[in-house]
Amino acid sequence: MKKWEEYIRKVTPYVPGEQPKNTDVIKLNTNECPYPPSPAVKEVIHNINSDKYRLYPDPDATFLCGAIADYYNVDSDRVFVGVGSDDVIAMAFMTFFNSDKPILFPDITYSFYDVWADLFKIPYETVRVDDDFKIIKESFDRENGGIIFPNPNAPTAIGMPLEEVEYIIKNNQDSVVIVDEAYVDFSDCTAMDLIDKYDNLLVIQTYSKSRAMAGMRIGFAIGNKKLIDAMKAVKFSYNSYTMNMPSIYAGAAAINDKEYFEEIRDKIVNTRTKAMEKLKELGFSMTDSKTNFLFVTHKTKPAKEIFEALKEKNIYVRYFNKDRIDNYLRITVGTDAQMQALYFALEKILGK
Ligand SMILES: *Cc1c(COP(=O)(O)O)cnc(C)c1O
Repeated sequence: MKKWEEYIRKVTPYVPGEQPKNTDVIKLNTNECPYPPSPAVKEVIHNINSDKYRLYPDPDATFLCGAIADYYNVDSDRVFVGVGSDDVIAMAFMTFFNSDKPILFPDITYSFYDVWADLFKIPYETVRVDDDFKIIKESFDRENGGIIFPNPNAPTAIGMPLEEVEYIIKNNQDSVVIVDEAYVDFSDCTAMDLIDKYDNLLVIQTYSKSRAMAGMRIGFAIGNKKLIDAMKAVKFSYNSYTMNMPSIYAGAAAINDKEYFEEIRDKIVNTRTKAMEKLKELGFSMTDSKTNFLFVTHKTKPAKEIFEALKEKNIYVRYFNKDRIDNYLRITVGTDAQMQALYFALEKILGK
């Protein structure tokens, strides 16, 4: 080994769901929205004068922060935007998780949290979800240097009632508590209304799922001004121009089109209800999904075999070869037509 090799940061990266090059597949593996973004997005991007690309974008992304602030009825100095919520969460880890005490997150959860903790050398401990995969609110009642959990949780799809979220925030007022609400628009458990009540609460959301804009990379955090100012200071010490110009304008246009947002969200929720019925008929059981995906297990056929057989038929779902969940599949809710194709393929695979 060369001397300089010793000084390379050793990390085990997060492995995102596959993005197949073949466009002929039914992609139900990364929780993207099956519908296009608001037509306002197409229009706004079409109308940007490309001469403007000579210039750096607004480092404060004022226009986008303003639109998000209006939507949630908060002051715009309480909004932080980033390149997808992954960027926002990474910034929050850097900003808030600097104590010697371990940060806490569930043992079954978004598999990026331990990767960031390792990257930033933050000590962490996981808290065990119960046998039905529910987060136990009391499990966070111990010394910690910060807390993060998604609500609804991924990949379990379970939503925690707001009273339980509040219990965790209230009992941990010496730490910053981050609620990762990537899927909250498909549920009714947002902690957004608690940000005035608790100055240690940071709520993070994304455009990637419910707003059909994973490719634009927009995420945001809302919290009290002290938290947001601290995140901005870290961001401006790292990269001032995270948000590119089209994302700033397209993000504002999308959040202003509430009607379209509600239309596609409702379609997905309807398809989800039907999918739960249909998959039960096929011998699957599942958690009560409050997200745009289903977390399912089959009574006889191993998840890994179903995953591989579906892939063979060009239908991609997500399989996690991990402790406690290695007999489960995470299936994104697609369009009704995509789901029909899924049921048809499953009937074949299961010999129905
Ligand atoms: C998808 C997802 C994110 C990140 O999404 P971005 O595309 O980076 O905005 C964060 N947390 C959870 C739990 C997710 O599922």
